[in-house]
Order: sequence, then structure tokens, then C-alpha cells
Amino acid sequence: MSVRVVARIRPLLEKELDKDVIVSADRVEDGKPLTIVKIPNPKKPEEEFSFAFNSVYDQSTTQEALFTAEVAPHMKALFQGYDVTIFAYGVTGTGKTHTMRGGLKLAERGVIPRLLSNIIRRGKKITKDTNGETTVDVALSYYEIYNDKVYDLLEPPEKRTPLGLPLREKDGKTYVVGLTERACEDLKDFERLYIEANNNRVTAATKLNAHSSRSHAILRVKVTQTTAETIRESTVSAIDLAGSEDNRRTDNGKERLVESAAINKSLFVLSQCVDAISRGDKRIPYRESKMTRILSLGQNNGITVMILNLAPIRSYHLDTLSSLNVSSRAKRI
Ligand code: ADP
Ligand code: MG
Repeated sequence: MSVRVVARIRPLLEKELDKDVIVSADRVEDGKPLTIVKIPNPKKPEEEFSFAFNSVYDQSTTQEALFTAEVAPHMKALFQGYDVTIFAYGVTGTGKTHTMRGGLKLAERGVIPRLLSNIIRRGKKITKDTNGETTVDVALSYYEIYNDKVYDLLEPPEKRTPLGLPLREKDGKTYVVGLTERACEDLKDFERLYIEANNNRVTAATKLNAHSSRSHAILRVKVTQTTAETIRESTVSAIDLAGSEDNRRTDNGKERLVESAAINKSLFVLSQCVDAISRGDKRIPYRESKMTRILSLGQNNGITVMILNLAPIRSYHLDTLSSLNVSSRAKRI
């Protein structure tokens, strides 16, 4: 079980060019890679807080560079049977969706489309190299967790039931009962499914007068390698988490309070799990939220990467600081 916690600071948006930049990336000493995020103390502006990460990516980091550094190295392990989990964590507007999904242009594609293209390419190569003796099947599920209920994103929102999909335990693992799984043979299959699913997500949120940043979106890619004698199965989960901001400060409508409570609890449990894994604890509190339970976080012999997305400007100051404080391993130094 291994975990990496990294930070990515997004560039200023066009409308922010005149804003005050307060977050910066730094290194322990000259010649070392960036591993530190610096931010002023809101109560004592002359004082600065520093948080340490496994790695820090600054404004100039491209989508390709992030993928190459943080995701591509785990693809070999995936095909060896390890499960890989990648989270984007942070305040709404800091770049989680940009990091995971990204833009349509090739260079702007995020972790998810790059991941799929890498997996499909590897699968084809394995089949070719073994003269067809090993077949590799790729299947997708995509679901969201909203107010602690699970909804299938590969199904149209009309099919949703108020209680969401039930969970079931089998062999110590948690399954979502009735979750759709669709085969994905090439990148075109993936793109079609992914666009459809993301539209379902937005439509469903709009119906509830909510915003899709209030739910966790989880894409699961299952890779099955089959030979005459063996079947090997492993999964990658890529998660665009709900915004970590404290909505109670700005919007105290009842609906939003219920949402905030569910989000806060699941993000808190997530950070506790990541903390426990990075300390090498035996007991990981993954059962304490639905999201970490479904992901079996800490149960399997897997690899977890947590990407903390940060906006560099002052208007995010308090939320940025609290996301830095929560994201584990981001130790204040
Ligand atoms: P979140 O999903 O965390 O709410 P988004 O991914 O929607 O945030 O990002 C907010 C805005 O910032 C979007 O317009 C997005 O295109 C832009 N953005 C985020 N990260 C980057 C980046 N690394 N480079 C360029 N634009 C970015
Ligand atoms: Mg988003």
C-alpha cells in the first residue's frame, strides 16, 4: 500500500490577472524539486506557513507533465494486478475537473482520457506480444456519490431512485449493486460514454437545484487479463471530489447544509484514511464513509495518489488554508 500526496497550483485565469497572488511553490534547497507550498498566515500577514508534499506542481505544469510524473508510473503495477486510485481534492474553482477531465484539445486532456489511452495501448500490446494468448478487456463504470447516496452515471437521470444504489459486501469487499459496466475497446468508445455520463451528471444536479461540484464523481476502469489458465483483474479509480469549501460560511440554506455535512464527513474520513496509510497503520478507518468503503481504501494492496488543487489568489485564502491543513502529509513546517 502506498500513497502520494501532491499539490498542483493552477495559473491565474484571464479574469484574475489583476488579483493578488498569495500561494507559491518552493523547494527545500536549490537544485531540489518543488515540494513546498507557501501561504501567508491570514491573521499575521508578515508570517508565512509552509506545507510539505511529496511533490508540488506550479502554474507552468502541463497536463502531460502531471500525467507523466504522477500517473503513468503506476500503469505497469496496474497490469501486474495492483489497484490504483487517483483523487483530485480541493476548493471549487481550483482545477479538479481540469486535472481529471481537462479540455477537449489534445494537449489539454486530463488524467482520465490519458489514463484510458495508456491502458488501451498497453492492452493491445500485451495481446500482440503474446500472440493473442492473453486477452485484455477494459470495462468502465462511472458513478457519483451525492448526499451519501450512490447514482449510476451511465444511466439516464430518469432512472434514478431516491435512495440510490444499494451496497453489498462480498469477500470483505463492498460492491455497488446494479452498477452498469460497459466494455471499452477503443478511445472512441470511452469518449462517447464519458461525454454521455458527464451530461447525465449535470442534468441530475440541475434537477435537484444543486451543482455537480457538490458530489464525488468516480470513474472506475476495470482491466481483465485472461489466459487459458488465469484471470487477473485490477482497477483504476479516478475521482473528482466534491468541493472542499465550507459552504456554511456563505450559504446556509437547508439543502446546502445537508450537502455540506455529507461532503465534510466523507472528505474528513478520506483524509484520515490517507493519513493512516501514509503512516503505515494497520487500521485504516475506510468503513466510516461510503466513498472510502466502496473504494476499499487501504484494504487492497494498492497505490493511491491524492492531488490537492490550489488557486493562487487571495479570495480563496481561508479555504485554501483549510484544504492544506486537511490534506494529509501536507505537514505544516
Ligand atoms: P474545479 O473542478 O476544482 O471546480 P475547474 O477544473 O473547473 O475547477 O477549474 C476552474 C477554472 O480554472 C476552469 O475554467 C479551468 O479551465 C481553469 N483551470 C484550472 N486548472 C487549470 C490549469 N492548470 N491551467 C489552465 N486553466 C486551468
Ligand atoms: Mg469541478
